[in-house]
Amino acid sequence: MEYIEELDGVGIKKSELFHKLGVYTIHDLISYYPRKYNYLKRTNMRQVMHGDKVIIDGRVESQPTMGQASRGVLKIMFRFANEEGVYHILVYNQVYLLKNLKVGMPVIVIGKYDRFKRMIVASEIRRGKLSLTGEIEPVYSATGNLSSKVIERTIQLGLNSRIEIVDYIPKSFSLKYHFPEKLWAIREIHHPTDAYSYRRSKQRLKYEELFWYLFRVRALANVVSDYESNVVKVFDEALVDKFIQGLDFELTPDQLKVVREIEEDLRSSKRMNRLVQGDVGSGKTIVAFISSYINYLSGYQTAFMVPTEILANQHYQNALSLFKNTKMRVGLLTSSVVKRDKEKILLELASGQLDLIIGTHALIQEKVEYANLGLIIADEQHRFGVNQRNELKKKGLFPDILSMSATPIPRTYALTIYGDMDVSNIRTKPASRKEVITYYKNESQLMEVLGLMKKELDLGHQIYVIAPAISGENEIEWDNVIKLKEKMRLAFGRKYLVEAVHGKMLSDEKIKIMKDFEEGVVQLLIATAVIEVGVNVPNASMIVIFNANLFGLSTLHQLRGRVGRGSIQSYCILVSKVNSERLEMLTHTTDGFQISEYDFKMRGEGDLFGTRQSGEIELKLANVIQDFDLLVRVKEDVDELFSDDFLKEENLRLLELFNRKNN
Ligand code: ADP
Ligand code: MG
Repeated sequence: MEYIEELDGVGIKKSELFHKLGVYTIHDLISYYPRKYNYLKRTNMRQVMHGDKVIIDGRVESQPTMGQASRGVLKIMFRFANEEGVYHILVYNQVYLLKNLKVGMPVIVIGKYDRFKRMIVASEIRRGKLSLTGEIEPVYSATGNLSSKVIERTIQLGLNSRIEIVDYIPKSFSLKYHFPEKLWAIREIHHPTDAYSYRRSKQRLKYEELFWYLFRVRALANVVSDYESNVVKVFDEALVDKFIQGLDFELTPDQLKVVREIEEDLRSSKRMNRLVQGDVGSGKTIVAFISSYINYLSGYQTAFMVPTEILANQHYQNALSLFKNTKMRVGLLTSSVVKRDKEKILLELASGQLDLIIGTHALIQEKVEYANLGLIIADEQHRFGVNQRNELKKKGLFPDILSMSATPIPRTYALTIYGDMDVSNIRTKPASRKEVITYYKNESQLMEVLGLMKKELDLGHQIYVIAPAISGENEIEWDNVIKLKEKMRLAFGRKYLVEAVHGKMLSDEKIKIMKDFEEGVVQLLIATAVIEVGVNVPNASMIVIFNANLFGLSTLHQLRGRVGRGSIQSYCILVSKVNSERLEMLTHTTDGFQISEYDFKMRGEGDLFGTRQSGEIELKLANVIQDFDLLVRVKEDVDELFSDDFLKEENLRLLELFNRKNN
């Protein structure tokens, strides 16, 4: 038995309704858990106040009659009695009761008590009696003609159908935690006998869901063996230190710590798969470049992937000056590099004449050949999942991987999403940084905003203006790049140079304008969120974001990170037509970790798993945010399982289940 159609009493019609709920197999059915429970306990009528909810059982005393309550509303009335007394029962609209209720029939009445009329306005009448101790009744998310009651009964059929129940928890862990048997636990969730059994059962099933999720992440990571074909990198640490000492600034303690961690990784016989998280401006780029230098000292090439061409250009310029005193050779590969140059670069990569190549994701997608690729750096957005590593493996590439993200995921959550990744955090910021001051203004306060902008421009500083859209129909709207350029030119154009960049422009044009902005030729730059990541102009002291409520918090925080890069006091102005608590929050904090935590909480865990690139995950009872403590425990258990003596018999059973699901 596998599908619900095989159950007696589930015909085509019913099974179609179940399909709407995503229930196809008997296993789906029995893990269709209740949405909530009703606790049916007999009300003590002596303590009931007027208007209280009551549940009582007894007999029908008089044949029901029907009347009109008001226009279009019918009412059914009858007398009801039990040991404690006689009550009038009134039900609206449930006309079928007229026929179904017979004098003497035992019924349960659920409703509201009207003390003065000694009447119960019932919401529900059921046949039968209440149990002595009270009853916990499951309530299922129902659909159309499939009521919670029918779902409940069908689930009972499923539970009694003797299907094979697969238990994903290794025996040793079940013993360790005294977990109840799985089928018993599932029954308890559907019909709890008491609070204690219910909690135990729920904990057990949650554990299993989380366990199986993390087990699969680990097993997948093992498929992409981290030991396979990896080289142990050998380099002179003194040279690395010398390079670091030659920088214009001193590394922050966190930057140095991460550099050391990366050195460790590169030296080890295990493949590096590390995520460096740090707020915008925390100085991740230099850490990445130092890593590429270490990789170069070890005799390998580095591919540095960034999400946009602008950023690739900026990193390239950066790298040229950073490595000018070394023998390291740096190249740039983007779609706007002319064909002849491109061919040359490709040749140099294949022959090993280039040590560091900076570009967009084409670096690993196209037919780019490397002489000896040893390290991939993925800056922003491109988090390397297990699947991508698998892709590289198929091409015969086994580089170390360093990912960087400015949308820090609270470490706690990172643990689940990147169960197969090591995570480093850069929390400290370069000391020269001043906190960006954030204002939140309504669009009606536009004159004030323009005043603040003028002040900054007059100080010789530069400004970013961000709009959510490139163009728009509405003449008076201040929310698109084209319109804003006109308006800003009207306001400031006589004294200052106002330019715009957006995704529909030619790449050359864009790069030219960005360059002018970087060099201070252009004072006011209007853009869409394309400048979101990476761009670095220390003299820019203000960013004004129009229609800020249309952006996510983390995006806004990233945009804000474009300013405050030098030592001058910087400002972020969020302009919005509507009031927003979220935006308010940004005026209080600049801690990216805190902001992303808030964002996560608001969005729930759905997105959390959305960012995960491998495998689908279905958690029915567990919630990675609410059940975080349990998750940590499960993670430890899974780590333990994979660390010692992995090929134990019970693990083989799990691996086989894993393989079956991954065909
Ligand atoms: P992000 O983490 O956003 O990528 P960047 O690496 O772009 O940050 O760093 C932002 C700016 O801070 C750059 O101009 C960089 O040169 C500078 N910077 C990085 N580390 C330090 C440091 N330890 N001390 C001073 N300035 C630093
Ligand atoms: Mg960066």
